[in-house]
Amino acid sequence: MKSADIRTSFLEYFRSKGHEVVASAPLVPGNDPTLLFTNAGMVQFKETFLGLEQRAYQRATSSQRCVRAGGKHNDLENVGYTARHHTFFEMLGNFSFGDYFKRDAIHYAWEYLTQVLKMPADKLWVTVYETDDEAYDIWVKEIGVPADRVTRIGDEPGGGSDNFWQMGDTGPCGPCTEVFYDHGPGVWGGPPGSPEADGDRYIEIWNLVFMQYDRDSEGTLTPLPKPSVDTGMGLERLAAVLQGVHSNYEIDLFQNLLDAVGRIMGSDDTHAPSYKVIADHIRSCSFLITDGVMPANEGRGYVLRRIIRRAARHGHKLGMTDPFFHRLVEPLVREMGEAYPELAKAQKQVERVLLQEEERFRETLEHGLKHLEEGLDKVSDKTIPGGLIFKLYDTYGFPVDLTGDIAREKGLELDMAGFEHEMEQQRDRARAASSFRMSDAGTVAKGISDSRFVGYEHIEEQARVLRLAGSDGKPVDSLNG
Ligand code: ATP
Ligand code: MG
Ligand code: MG
Ligand code: MG
Repeated sequence: MKSADIRTSFLEYFRSKGHEVVASAPLVPGNDPTLLFTNAGMVQFKETFLGLEQRAYQRATSSQRCVRAGGKHNDLENVGYTARHHTFFEMLGNFSFGDYFKRDAIHYAWEYLTQVLKMPADKLWVTVYETDDEAYDIWVKEIGVPADRVTRIGDEPGGGSDNFWQMGDTGPCGPCTEVFYDHGPGVWGGPPGSPEADGDRYIEIWNLVFMQYDRDSEGTLTPLPKPSVDTGMGLERLAAVLQGVHSNYEIDLFQNLLDAVGRIMGSDDTHAPSYKVIADHIRSCSFLITDGVMPANEGRGYVLRRIIRRAARHGHKLGMTDPFFHRLVEPLVREMGEAYPELAKAQKQVERVLLQEEERFRETLEHGLKHLEEGLDKVSDKTIPGGLIFKLYDTYGFPVDLTGDIAREKGLELDMAGFEHEMEQQRDRARAASSFRMSDAGTVAKGISDSRFVGYEHIEEQARVLRLAGSDGKPVDSLNG
């Protein structure tokens, strides 16, 4: 079954169960400043779940384009290394707005997988939230999944749980039950809940969320007006199962994209992670630009810029010194233009924006890599010093995650504390240089001290904001400006 046919089959199944087929929303959420990008099918229905917006239907189904390259759900670091993560993917979903709840949601999912798609039941594993006896009983007693293939998953020590789903730090959330597919021995990994669960043998394909609460910024959970259902299944992961391949990168759509990357690079061996990274990144970048995001120094535009630069670096690694990334838009449009006419329509514009970004980064990429190599010659432990990370970032326009990506390939660590220290000094310089901008920087700095550490992205984001509030209001380095 081709990816495109799977998408249609899913929507048709749920249409036959009384669901309204709703088009994918754009990647930039309508009016939700709390969310970087649409990261799940439920995002466009958020207000409906909260009871703030009434729709003409109580059941919906969609195939939603999603990006997970920042914010709460960030898979950027996984891409190229796991069989199952993309920055851009399509999420098939069915939704109940106060209509059906756990029982029907589970029965539909099981019927669709085992009756419609004829997936072998004995390859399917299930998880439920630790205390969710109701879901457990439906799986074991009604559906008949053997109890040894249903795992209860509780909260993690640091908070959060795989089986308590939330879109972001605030908003609708609830316990969930996940369906996994066992790709069989030969692939490393153990069943959900086991110590080897982070392997790629047992792959999560579908998550059924029982939307029951609204989480506010204090963390307080308030019950929703009506318990609802929100499900999400990755189209690419489902295609892998149905096409009898293990990795998402082996499905029809990705094979064609990888072939296109190979043609441009002049190679038929496209197994190295760099090929996958590039094939993945062309999708997120093209769709982000189609949906109106432009490369920039902060916010959404900076995430886009980071992904483009990352792709450019991987191309460079494969030996490409000329801009190449924009040439992948055409093969992408061939794969996805029919399902997404907006992408086909934006093709020329997307190519232009990508080419411009590639050209802009080309020279500093080369110089930055050389600077890094020289710097590493002097390093005795397995750490890239903070000063070097900062220099790459500040002078050569290397986003920290890009340097992190290189570090990982070389088996090195990043000295993030040292980098933060350099950033702090930069902020001090900016403040000293501009007393009249002081109040702006002060406000931002206060916002920062209130927030927890959430990775490179946050630090960079803060730095960006502060840099923009530099001496003359212009960014400190001209490259990034
Ligand atoms: P995982 O644990 O594998 O990272 P998840 O639990 O974070 O997945 P959900 O938030 O439950 O994923 O999203 C619903 C479904 O969307 C998943 O079951 C999976 O099929 C798909 N999915 C999630 N993240 C990705 C991704 N980065 N790339 C491709 N598909 C994804
Ligand atoms: Mg995940
Ligand atoms: Mg999961
Ligand atoms: Mg999940």
